[in-house]
Amino acid sequence: MKLHPVKSARDIRLDDDDARVPGAGRQSGKAVERATAKQVERIATLQRVFYADGRHALLIVLQGRDASGKDGTIRKVFTAVNPQGCTVSSFGVPTPLEARHDFLWRVHAQVPPRGMIGIFNRSHYEDILVPRVHGQLDKDGMLERCEQVNDFERMLGENGVTILKFMLHVSRDEQRRRLQERIEDPEKNWKFRAGDLDDRARWDEFTRAYRAVLKHTSTKHAPWRIVPADDKPLRDRMVAETIADALDGLDLRYPKADTTVKDLTVE
Ligand code: ADP
Repeated sequence: MKLHPVKSARDIRLDDDDARVPGAGRQSGKAVERATAKQVERIATLQRVFYADGRHALLIVLQGRDASGKDGTIRKVFTAVNPQGCTVSSFGVPTPLEARHDFLWRVHAQVPPRGMIGIFNRSHYEDILVPRVHGQLDKDGMLERCEQVNDFERMLGENGVTILKFMLHVSRDEQRRRLQERIEDPEKNWKFRAGDLDDRARWDEFTRAYRAVLKHTSTKHAPWRIVPADDKPLRDRMVAETIADALDGLDLRYPKADTTVKDLTVE
């Protein structure tokens, strides 16, 4: 199954059932793994020419609730990428200095330069979702920030940055299982924050906020894709394929050696 860009409010389905891929069981686990491996290899191959080409930057935005699989997606999908061509930026609660700037200040600084793939583990969308749910942004304030984000992303697009935005959508049950595991498994304890439970208690408010934000910021130049994320291997396969296809569509080429180089011989 391919991930489709969100084109209208009708495409924004965030119920629990939407976190699973219909008919997912038809493909064996091994077949999914093989398909993912193929896409991961495609990304690695394309990244080499993407880096050499140097005309484009690729920004991948990963959003999703706690335990929706942002870290796991990064680990699996980019496993074959040359670390020299890739950056990962995580965005937590703004520091006092960050909070004194406009909300895009810290984000803009992490946008990848041409030739690089930049991955955002959370993003500027936290600056709309969290204050909206916590009552610090009213509806007009939220819409204003959405417009500012659209302008920002359009400007990046006009400057060579391709933006792929993924919302990893987990069901309430699956999130419960994953958070419980973080509490019980000593190797996963470090991932658990008490705040995760507060956000979980606001499940419906977050769903409403996500719905509004996806609706107002899914643009032609930077559309959202909602990833059914309850099944981790399928999630990886779908995200990897979308990224590989996007790189493939950039018409990448190795720069031509200039003629003087061509005539040289290494003794
Ligand atoms: P993660 O949960 O992604 O592994 P952290 O434990 O550092 O990483 O948690 C990040 C937390 O910071 C999340 O609860 C997120 O909602 C919050 N956060 C990120 N950006 C903002 C923001 N701009 N305003 C408020 N909270 C934010």
